[in-house]
Amino acid sequence: MWPSTSPAARWLLGWVELLFPPHCLVCGKGLGGLAPLCADCFAEIRRWQKVCEICGVGIGPGLDLCEECAVEAKPFLWARSIGPYEGVLRALVFLVKYEGERMVAKLLAQEMAKLFLGEVAVVTWVPPDPLRLKQRGFHGAELLGREVAEVLDLPAQPLLRKVAHSPEQVGRPREERIRAMHGLFAATRKGHGESVLLVDDVLTTGATVAEGARALQEAGFGEVAVLTCARTAGRE
Ligand SMILES: [Zn+2]
Ligand SMILES: [Zn+2]
Repeated sequence: MWPSTSPAARWLLGWVELLFPPHCLVCGKGLGGLAPLCADCFAEIRRWQKVCEICGVGIGPGLDLCEECAVEAKPFLWARSIGPYEGVLRALVFLVKYEGERMVAKLLAQEMAKLFLGEVAVVTWVPPDPLRLKQRGFHGAELLGREVAEVLDLPAQPLLRKVAHSPEQVGRPREERIRAMHGLFAATRKGHGESVLLVDDVLTTGATVAEGARALQEAGFGEVAVLTCARTAGRE
């Protein structure tokens, strides 16, 4: 998993491994290699058997679309997530979001890239709150976006910026949440019809990525697809 192959780097890594034996970042069990988590924890990540063709939420057998997508158009072409936001996946998302764990971002990006459909011209991410970025020094969605772009061999560009504060969403009805997001993002440049893959850590209400897609399309970009690590399983 470590890309560096120079003898000096290998020598150094040998010492690092000896002095700090690698352990699973989720359960703490000792590991043989430098992967961020053990095979047992990896196998525990729950996946959906069948998902809505558009928004990627888990649905029952015999269906193609979830109830919502059956009646309402989305501003993105499709959205996919590794699985529900719970257990091991939730722990991994935390490690990227709050600790900036690059090895975990790499691992998640590999899983996200497996869900990629079709083609896009460029990869971007849901932008950070400038204050939070200053406090943390990193932005989880950007770490994921850049790793996904690398796996898919696509250019990664910061195409969105935040122009207003995120509204308090808890307890608000869905329509109100979507309305409150309006004008939250702006594109960083004009688009020329390029299709975009928008990456985020968790898809909760869907309002954030929908607003991101809207801002991109308003600036002249083409179709937008969405990849997130996880999504809350409940109704949007
Ligand atoms: Zn483990
Ligand atoms: Zn759907």
